[in-house]
Amino acid sequence: MSAPYRIRHYGDPVLKQRAKEITNIDGSLVRLVDDMLETMYDEPGLGLAAPQVGIRKRLFVYDLAEEGYDPRTLINPEIIESDGEWEFNEGCLSVPGLSWHIVRPKTVHIRGYDLDGNEVNIEADELEARLFQHELDHLNGVLLVEHLDDEQMKEAKKILRERAEKGDGSAQAMSDELGLSLPKPGLSLP
Ligand SMILES: [Zn+2]
Repeated sequence: MSAPYRIRHYGDPVLKQRAKEITNIDGSLVRLVDDMLETMYDEPGLGLAAPQVGIRKRLFVYDLAEEGYDPRTLINPEIIESDGEWEFNEGCLSVPGLSWHIVRPKTVHIRGYDLDGNEVNIEADELEARLFQHELDHLNGVLLVEHLDDEQMKEAKKILRERAEKGDGSAQAMSDELGLSLPKPGLSLP
């Protein structure tokens, strides 16, 4: 069985848009969550935000269980407080095959709602805190590449250029988004 959704990649405009507040938890939202979880497990990924499957809603799913399954949903999440610094090699399903060491706050207090509409408050650190910050970025139309420093961006462009030259379509789309001008296929350069 294939996943219900296709993951949108860097270059897709939906990933740059701010997602909208959820005002109503109903059956269709529950179905969306189920389908997002299935898509996330299929990849596999630790987390998935609605814009990554083309849905502009402020919601993400995640599962940080080391064994078995522990699917979680956060609706209309907000980071109330963050503290410290932590470096982590961060990747993203929407920027496939690339990851970078990025420093972000080490701990966060996040508040949101679960699928029953109950308020949830979580004090998270390290990996969990990183996941929350990453997924919340998605809801605000921010992608991992916007956290890169100049050196990391240079490296990313180099890798993408090489992949696009080998005919990798998603690398081509990502390169276009980064404003890279690539040699046309079949054109021999001096
Ligand atoms: Zn991501």
